[in-house]
Amino acid sequence: MTLTDLPHDGLDDALDGLRAHVVAPVALPGEAGYERATPWNVAATVEPAAVVLATSAYDISNTVRYAAARGFRVGVQATGHGALAVASDTILVVTAEMTRVTVDPVARTARVAAGATWQHVLDAAAPYGLAGLCGSSPGVGVVGFLTGGGIGPLVRTVGLSADYVRSFELVTGTGEFLRASPDENAELFWGLRGGKSTLGIVTSVEIELLQIPEFYGGAVYFDGADAAVVVREWARWCADLPESVSTSIALQQLPPLPGVPEPLAGRFTVAVRYAATGDFAEGERLLAPMRAVATPVLDTVAVLPYSEIGAVHADPVDPMPCYEHHTLLRELTADTVEVLLNAAGPDSGSVQTIVEIRMLGGALAREGRHRSAFCHRDAAFAVAVIGVLAPPTADAVVRQAGALVVALSQWSSGGQIANFAPSEDAGRAVRVYDEETRHWLAALAERHDPAGVFRCGQVVRFVR
Ligand SMILES: Cc1cc2nc3c(=O)[nH]c(=O)nc-3n(C[C@H](O)[C@H](O)[C@H](O)COP(=O)(O)OP(=O)(O)OC[C@H]3O[C@@H](n4cnc5c(N)ncnc54)[C@H](O)[C@@H]3O)c2cc1C
Repeated sequence: MTLTDLPHDGLDDALDGLRAHVVAPVALPGEAGYERATPWNVAATVEPAAVVLATSAYDISNTVRYAAARGFRVGVQATGHGALAVASDTILVVTAEMTRVTVDPVARTARVAAGATWQHVLDAAAPYGLAGLCGSSPGVGVVGFLTGGGIGPLVRTVGLSADYVRSFELVTGTGEFLRASPDENAELFWGLRGGKSTLGIVTSVEIELLQIPEFYGGAVYFDGADAAVVVREWARWCADLPESVSTSIALQQLPPLPGVPEPLAGRFTVAVRYAATGDFAEGERLLAPMRAVATPVLDTVAVLPYSEIGAVHADPVDPMPCYEHHTLLRELTADTVEVLLNAAGPDSGSVQTIVEIRMLGGALAREGRHRSAFCHRDAAFAVAVIGVLAPPTADAVVRQAGALVVALSQWSSGGQIANFAPSEDAGRAVRVYDEETRHWLAALAERHDPAGVFRCGQVVRFVR
């Protein structure tokens, strides 16, 4: 019998049995604790059959075994920054209580539990001058980020964050506990770095920390009236940047909400994000031409402790209803810039909150010490379109994002990065992975999740 065969009372009975199998709190719809499934991206409809607020790997294993035996699926959520719809055929494991981070300052490593965010790692590593290679927002979950590869504000200097994973502990689709490292279950170690939750629920990850106590970075913000000159110059300037520098540019219309600096609130601005390591004087010299393009309305670039790496993108912290679209570019030509400005510039009628272009290349383009399921290292730029899915502009957000990606198609590789493309669209896997990677991820999923328990969200399986 599967979940969908059960009458409503039977469903409650089946889920009540779950409480006997796990120590963790279990909440059914309407019960206290069910609200812990509410994701950061509140636009995603997350309405699971039950929520398991996991406190240990045993809770996760027992949930998976229970679900597999009864035809339920199992999803996993830490913060909900990458949330997709979760339906009532799924038990959702929420890892948000599993936040332990243990730093070994001598080995320069950290062991990070499934639900920790990058902020937890920044806090634990900063006293030693060590850095965990987080993304733009410290509020994002470590495991969700790393299983998607992980592109951080220093990406051109340090490369893909998942290349710094030493090992994972995980629960497979059969409920088995496994360790995956270059020497142990190496095929899982390959697939977990890029394959999201295709191969299991990670219960903890061991990562390398780098000695980066400080960096030179932040953002230079310009008025929307200067958008054309700033974006055109940014595209030219990028061409000569060394690997010690990472940068992105954002056309943004931030709402006048608490936390949004006054010069940026409720108006069109352009942010040139910048992060340089090594010689800070050189970092300042390299930025000088961009600073001089127009008169900034705000300039936050300075020598900062690594724990303030979130200042580079200054991403929103509070939950919001987001729509994301994304494409990778092979190149950013003068014509690409004009297309971008026409579609997303201040006179375009764009309703997007942020249209961002991240420069890639540098260390990202080189394969890590151990191959992974992350694809598209050769992409030159990543474009992300982020809008608020709320009336009155929700329809326009989706329509314009699609139109922008189509308009960029002549420069696009057609690829996407897993972390920037949370989507239930069946064609997603083809854009995120090359054919060989797709095949191996699906083959490993058959082996480690034969019942298809994890067929939920961004997973790769053979199409039957
Ligand atoms: C504001 C913002 C900024 C971002 N910045 C960046 C960035 O700079 N670089 C970048 O690469 N990405 C970035 N992302 C994307 C982000 O890395 C992904 O959405 C990531 O999946 C979020 O992980 P989470 O745990 O916080 O979210 P969740 O929604 O809780 O998880 C998302 C997915 O991660 C996987 N996952 C989570 N926990 C586990 C687990 N224990 N085991 C196995 N799989 C798991 C699952 O597939 C899950 O559906 C950003 C997203 C947002 C909203």
